[in-house]
Amino acid sequence: MGKSIRYLDRNTEPMLPPQERNKTFREYALGFSVSMALDEAKRCLFCRDAEKRCIRGCPVNVDIPGFIKKITEGDLVGAYKKIIETDLFPSICGRVCPQERQCEGSCILYYDTVKDRKNKGLPVSIGALEKFVGDFIRVSGIEIEEEKREPTGKKVAVVGAGPAGLSCAYDLLRWGHEVHIYEALPKAGGVMAYGIPPARLDRDLLDWEIERLKKLGAKFFFGYVVGRTVSLKDLLDRYDAVFLSVGAGRGSLGIKGDHLIGVYSAIEVLMRINLMHAKDFPLASTPINLGKRTVIIGGGFTAVDCAISALRLGVETHVVYRRTRETSSARDEEWDHIKEEGAMIHWLTQPIEILGDEKNRVIGVKCIKMQLGEPDESGRPRPVAIPNSEHIIECDSVIFAIGQKPNPIAYEDIQGIELTKWGTIKVDEHFRTNIEGLFAGGDVVNGGDTVVRAISHGRKAAKAIDEYLMKEVRR
Ligand code: FAD
Repeated sequence: MGKSIRYLDRNTEPMLPPQERNKTFREYALGFSVSMALDEAKRCLFCRDAEKRCIRGCPVNVDIPGFIKKITEGDLVGAYKKIIETDLFPSICGRVCPQERQCEGSCILYYDTVKDRKNKGLPVSIGALEKFVGDFIRVSGIEIEEEKREPTGKKVAVVGAGPAGLSCAYDLLRWGHEVHIYEALPKAGGVMAYGIPPARLDRDLLDWEIERLKKLGAKFFFGYVVGRTVSLKDLLDRYDAVFLSVGAGRGSLGIKGDHLIGVYSAIEVLMRINLMHAKDFPLASTPINLGKRTVIIGGGFTAVDCAISALRLGVETHVVYRRTRETSSARDEEWDHIKEEGAMIHWLTQPIEILGDEKNRVIGVKCIKMQLGEPDESGRPRPVAIPNSEHIIECDSVIFAIGQKPNPIAYEDIQGIELTKWGTIKVDEHFRTNIEGLFAGGDVVNGGDTVVRAISHGRKAAKAIDEYLMKEVRR
């Protein structure tokens, strides 16, 4: 008898219950047990045309059926090796990738690519399986040998230790180059360290990944703000090539009342909570005072992460977004999670003014209801205001989780560097800027995307840098 197709009996990861998890920054998605992982792996049909389905859905084209097959064979080291051929950080991507829009969104159990039909069944839990494999290797103590080429004598500076910079450094180190990583903050990881709350991404595993890089020979220089502590021009003179991966961490505010006391940018809030340990203080004395009620403006990952954090500080949390859930860029399941934990989400609601008292302290946000109109240039329906629907949400603080853009400090001293009209760095298909020896990738190039996309940029740029450095040597 042939294998029956298990469309619907997908294993779901156990979770801490909402009433428990909104009191702790501990990870709430608890991961598959061995038996759950084996059972879930067996749901995969190992489609012959997987490269047109899940593999294509993954921005770094992980050989998904390949690693799942290894799980079914009980070869977790083999599964891990298969994943890291393209995705350096399985434990991280398994946790934070929006899989429903990527690999899982094109799984044949869910999406019939032939008949173009969605919701046929439930996709294989690819993200949870990837996380399982990564976590297994991390806690097993098994050392995975990294192949390393002979030293080339070439030196590369990486500016910014986020996923783009770290993955670029990884390949360059394996190919025998010396890599120095300059990071403004006291910790490596970029958004993975200062932005995403530990409730979604445990810091132990991030530290483990950084250790992997250090073992390969990466040298970190923390507290170096390139453009201030050291100039980019200086790095270009001292190194054979420079990779710029400074992200897009500059928040922009910009509505009436944004000067009031109690208005914060999302990055400021997340940094204070994650790097200044605000979560370890009693509420009244945290290094961030959100008061009793906060309004978060935005509809992406950043807004959701601010909500996760505010809820855990015991603050009544409202999220205001001018579009709908379907058009938001955050993960579907994260909206469910924060809602279960008590966040109030106001869809199709546009803030128009922040209101303050006579002492300039925030007392509320004036909003207007929206409805969907004609599509804009990106094809998404444009929200339009509903007349006479103004209303006020009372609050003690406001967090802006919108309008992230690159901070030019690192490269503003470089005369003639080409930027796009959005202020991101312009690169060619090899991630080369118009400045000799200067490459760039990640959010500083795409204006804000995903961890896995940053990894993909970092690795492609590493290949281009290697070719650039070795041109003469290999000729
Ligand atoms: P970053 O991660 O931003 O790293 C840039 C690094 O450069 C930082 O460490 C910064 O301190 C450093 N730097 C900046 N300027 C300088 C300078 N002048 N000198 C030296 N160092 C400098 N994506 C997902 O896939 N899943 C998620 O769940 C998710 N959640 C997110 C939550 C938040 C709050 C945010 C803001 C983004 C989230 N994203 C998520 C998007 C994702 O994190 C980014 O796309 C990704 O981190 C970009 O990587 P990067 O390496 O380009 O930049």
